Amino acid sequence: MSRKKLIAANWKMQKTIVGAKTFAERLKTSVKKDEPYDMVVFPPFFALPVTAEILGGSPVAVGAQDLFWENDGAYTGEVSAGMVIEAGGTYVIVGHSERRHMIGETNEVVGKKLRAAIGGGLTPVLCVGEKIADREAGRAETFVEEQLEAALAGFLGGDVERIVVAYEPVWAIGTGRTATPQDAVAMHRFIRGAIANRFGVDAADRLRVLYGGSVKPQNAGSLLRETEIDGALVGGASLKAEEFAAIATART
Ligand code: PEP
Repeated sequence: MSRKKLIAANWKMQKTIVGAKTFAERLKTSVKKDEPYDMVVFPPFFALPVTAEILGGSPVAVGAQDLFWENDGAYTGEVSAGMVIEAGGTYVIVGHSERRHMIGETNEVVGKKLRAAIGGGLTPVLCVGEKIADREAGRAETFVEEQLEAALAGFLGGDVERIVVAYEPVWAIGTGRTATPQDAVAMHRFIRGAIANRFGVDAADRLRVLYGGSVKPQNAGSLLRETEIDGALVGGASLKAEEFAAIATART
């Protein structure tokens, strides 16, 4: 089945409200209503409302880079799915490797956040990916399978269709080192196969699996031309509207 590609911009802790406004205005003018791909921008929390306001009515969606698993209460510093939606977000990143490895998010925490995102009406982008030591030891697939299993414990096929998976090998994030299209395709096939085994072929066929890790306009075409690669999660190269837009059109 053919899946519409999704090109996602993860700004991380970069861009102020002013910078987000400039980006959103530029992107809005360069994206047409009927583009053959979807786009989503993940600004820092403070910049989310203004980004969503400017991009409202355009085909570009907006999301949060993280969320907490409770709806409200005494959780200092946290943000709920409902708050993201009120601010104009429709997507959320869950389990980014920077949160897993720098902040210590476990597979269990990632699972709770994933359930909160779906329960709260957001589309989660679940990030999975191995470290270089796992790849070199031939454990990349086992590692990713464990991350998927832990995050999706208790899920049904219908829930899985509401998520997007991003395969982001940790050794490729922010390093300038990109997975080859062949390696990325092999892992994407593996992920789709693991989903098919647990949730059925239909759910796996509908699931979008993005690639992330040093994607830029120069290498995006060779990745996005692969039918197994349903889009890209882009960090560094998503900070300039023109560069991000060039990634979206790179396969044509
Ligand atoms: C990311 O942060 O998800 C990412 C892929 O970053 P970069 O494109 O900079 O490697």
